[in-house]
Amino acid sequence: MNKNGIPATDEYQALHKANNAFKDYFLNNTDDSVKAYREVVERLANDISQQIKDQHQPYNGKSPASLRAEIEAIDMFPENGSSLKDVLDRTKELVIESNISVYHPHCMAHLHCPTFIASLAAEMIISAFNQSMDSWDQAPAATMIEQLLGRQLCTEYGFGPDSDATFTGGGTMSNFMGLLLARDRYSQEHYNWNIQQKGLPPDASKFRIICAANAHFTVAQSASILGLGETAVVKLNYNEMAEDAATLEEAILDLRSQGLLPIAYVNTAGTTDFGSIGAIGDLADCAHRHGLWMHVDAAYGGALMFSQKHKHKLKGIEKADSITVDFHKLFYQPISCGVFIVKDKSSFEFIRLHAEYLNPESNEELGILDLVYKSIQTTRRFDALKPFIALQHIGVKKFGEMLDHTIALAEEISAVISNDPQFELAYKTPINAVVFRYLPSETLSDAQIDAINNGIKIKLLLSGKAIIGQTCCNERAFLKFTLLNPMSTAAEIMTLLQQVKTIGQEMLSECKIENCYV
Ligand SMILES: *Cc1c(COP(=O)(O)O)cnc(C)c1O
Repeated sequence: MNKNGIPATDEYQALHKANNAFKDYFLNNTDDSVKAYREVVERLANDISQQIKDQHQPYNGKSPASLRAEIEAIDMFPENGSSLKDVLDRTKELVIESNISVYHPHCMAHLHCPTFIASLAAEMIISAFNQSMDSWDQAPAATMIEQLLGRQLCTEYGFGPDSDATFTGGGTMSNFMGLLLARDRYSQEHYNWNIQQKGLPPDASKFRIICAANAHFTVAQSASILGLGETAVVKLNYNEMAEDAATLEEAILDLRSQGLLPIAYVNTAGTTDFGSIGAIGDLADCAHRHGLWMHVDAAYGGALMFSQKHKHKLKGIEKADSITVDFHKLFYQPISCGVFIVKDKSSFEFIRLHAEYLNPESNEELGILDLVYKSIQTTRRFDALKPFIALQHIGVKKFGEMLDHTIALAEEISAVISNDPQFELAYKTPINAVVFRYLPSETLSDAQIDAINNGIKIKLLLSGKAIIGQTCCNERAFLKFTLLNPMSTAAEIMTLLQQVKTIGQEMLSECKIENCYV
């Protein structure tokens, strides 16, 4: 031992030296580490901005086979590593150059958004400091920011002082949480049965969750994971795609008459495909009259609350028991960033588990809050920092104007499509999803028209020129422009519409020659 109590053996000295060598790989307080970090940040800022400046189409068009071959050529678990510079050079070619650019106006297949610079700044802080949201002693300021931002958000959606929120990985998890709490509360209230402790009650096979036929698939997925089975989901077909209370009421009474137990209604405020929104308040009143939990899946439409012009479309959302809002869609935040809001925070008791090391009650007396109790995740990212920074910078007014622009753009494009005999518009959208199809003037079978429309989407994707969506409407294939990028202009979208038409015409002649799309 030396005088500091450290063993003076050669073996220990060698190990100690090796430990110091590990420092090269971590962010730490040495000059070398800080320098390496700054260099990497600067280099990536250059690579990324260069790519974005030079990228003239949303995708470089590399085929799935060549991407696979390039990636398979890499030794992913090498015995010895190579310099970070070399690895990043390779990554630039493999990943950066083959991205689908969310910044390009012709990237519009999904609710896949461009991101704010302010939120990218937040991402740097999130990853560098690596705060974990499960306990205050891993994330003091972060915990308070998430908690208070969540509470403020509850207020924005018209919820009262008993409400609360938790950040999630997205709409999938938020919908799951809504239905989990709905199931557990129903069981507690009707059977005095705690599912957390005892598993499903005997009557669980009669539980039913009602939603529209075009609700997100995660409703059925949640039912399955919750042990109720996908058959517990009753899907309603609504006229004009907008959900209405009369249809819901009829369905509830019908299920009751069969001896079944409707426990929850999932209303979609902004369906993924069409963006349709029903009369939320009437639906909530109807659900509550019959004792159902009302969950509003506003993953897509929730942002409208911040538009002075369009917030009326969410009227009645304050009557919900729980709401899903995705920040990584119409709030332009980097993935992942979602939130789950509940009207009565005592519902979180249904998922509270006590781990001695995580949430000792004595901490609560000190004002120390461990957020793990209201999440189904334990270790969790500080995603709340992204909207926290971005909204302070942009302000709610400007943010609302961005949404207004996208909706006006969708209205304009919808009007152009409606007036063109070679296109058919599926539905007049209340948000910014334009669903339509190419309709050749020749008489073709439904299957041929479907094949041409599917073909247009695939041709655009594989050439990298445009990433557009596809969906079904009345069992026919339709195309979709999700116009959520506030930077897009009508001229840019019109250019693409023209390309859609050109490809459609080309396919039509191929189709006639080869008779191949029947
Ligand atoms: C996107 C979406 C979801 C799923 O959300 P993720 O964030 O992708 O998990 C659920 N519901 C609706 C209406 C959506 O648009």
